[in-house]
Amino acid sequence: MNLGTDQHKPKVLSKGSQRIICPTCGNDSDFLEIADGVLITSNYIQNSDGSFTLDGDDSQVLGEIKFFCGECNADLSRFHQHFMEMLF
Ligand SMILES: [Zn+2]
Repeated sequence: MNLGTDQHKPKVLSKGSQRIICPTCGNDSDFLEIADGVLITSNYIQNSDGSFTLDGDDSQVLGEIKFFCGECNADLSRFHQHFMEMLF
């Protein structure tokens, strides 16, 4: 989303570090991501002895993903894109 211009950078992000800081309470360490309507599909293989082995899963978010401050629960969804870029 960043097209190379700093013009629209939110003021709560300090210049060098680019850390997300809650504008309401100042929290910069504890965040919540909440996804609406998650479809979780898991593949299982049945073994010859009747037991099952998980063979991977494919989860899809059908609804909206929201991003909240973990301290005061302020809606920080406008920072979610940044969060995704910084998620390792
Ligand atoms: Zn907060």
